[in-house]
Amino acid sequence: MYGPEESFEQKSFAQLRPLVLKSGILAAVCGFLALLVVDATERISPALYGFSLLATFACYLTSRATTTRQLWLTDLLLVCTTTACMGSIANAVSDPAIWFLPIGLLMSLPVSAMHVRPLHVFGTGAAVWATLFYVVQPSFERQLDLTLSLMLILASLLVAMLVCQTFCRIRRNVYDLQLQLHEMAYKDTLTGLPNRRAFMDTLTATLSNEAPHAPLFFLMLDIDDFKTINDSFGHDVGDRVLADVARVLKDQSAGHSFARLGGEEFAVAAHLSDIAAAQALAQRIVDAVNANQLYGVSLSISVGLAAHEPGEPLYSLMRRADLALYDAKRGGKNRHATAARLVATRDGIAHTA
Ligand code: GH3
Ligand code: MG
Ligand code: MG
Repeated sequence: MYGPEESFEQKSFAQLRPLVLKSGILAAVCGFLALLVVDATERISPALYGFSLLATFACYLTSRATTTRQLWLTDLLLVCTTTACMGSIANAVSDPAIWFLPIGLLMSLPVSAMHVRPLHVFGTGAAVWATLFYVVQPSFERQLDLTLSLMLILASLLVAMLVCQTFCRIRRNVYDLQLQLHEMAYKDTLTGLPNRRAFMDTLTATLSNEAPHAPLFFLMLDIDDFKTINDSFGHDVGDRVLADVARVLKDQSAGHSFARLGGEEFAVAAHLSDIAAAQALAQRIVDAVNANQLYGVSLSISVGLAAHEPGEPLYSLMRRADLALYDAKRGGKNRHATAARLVATRDGIAHTA
């Protein structure tokens, strides 16, 4: 099927997961190295190495996350674990109050670029500061110190949320632009049908798919006397006719691949049980177009039909459908014609008579 495959949420997850995972591994490694360095000079409790184990486990969970919410929760575990580890090291080596603000800012601010919702970022930031307060239990000697620290913490949380919101808006803009580009590349603007490129991509993928499926039939369609319609009623009416035929095609070919190939030519690729079913589809399209009137004159379309032969390349299938289309035109238009089957010769592939 043609169309963007990922939702905004899925795309955001795919973009953020490597960042969260790599920064998580980095934090876990740095925490472990810090424990080793401190352990070499001051003896610390072996229990502190438990933080490294927990951080490694959180990294593992991050690597298994499948949604942005899971990514946030596993990162929350990792960030809080690393914060607790750093706070414990600060307790062990010096006056922990010196390290209180640097650790909190280091652990809470970078998270702003890693998540999709400002509330998630706020939650992680709040959890970091709560963990740090619990582990370090800083004693602010003056009321002013406490007031200024709380103001700084609040400011850091708000800045983190703003950064997150800005990154989200940029990601959303890029995603919307990609959608627009995708539409421009794969959709016919006049009729809204998939264009030639989308159709060929789908068909090439279908032909290279080895999984067993029903036989494939290709229908090449061309509006009859379209130049006369343009010359008699003007190009704007011609454009309306193209849109009408596209609507008929969409109705009649639901469940199959279809496209406007260009000009007044359309195509359908359908997996059907046998040639009789494909001919019935072609006849339904011919009849449905013919049921439309333009200033009292019935519209009509001709269809060339070809059954895909095993191993046949796409260009050959389309060429045979095109030849069948000429047969339908020569036969009087407003009808379908079926292409001759292929026979293999010593030199390669040739048409049957
Ligand atoms: P036949 O029955 O043999 O198919 O004849 P025809 O007149 O349909 O075919 P012809 O190839 O002579 O003319 C096709 C015309 O389609 C010529 C071109 O100006 C017109 N056309 C191509 N694209 C568009 C379009 O987007 N809008 C309009 N209004 N006309 C278009
Ligand atoms: Mg034509
Ligand atoms: Mg035509």
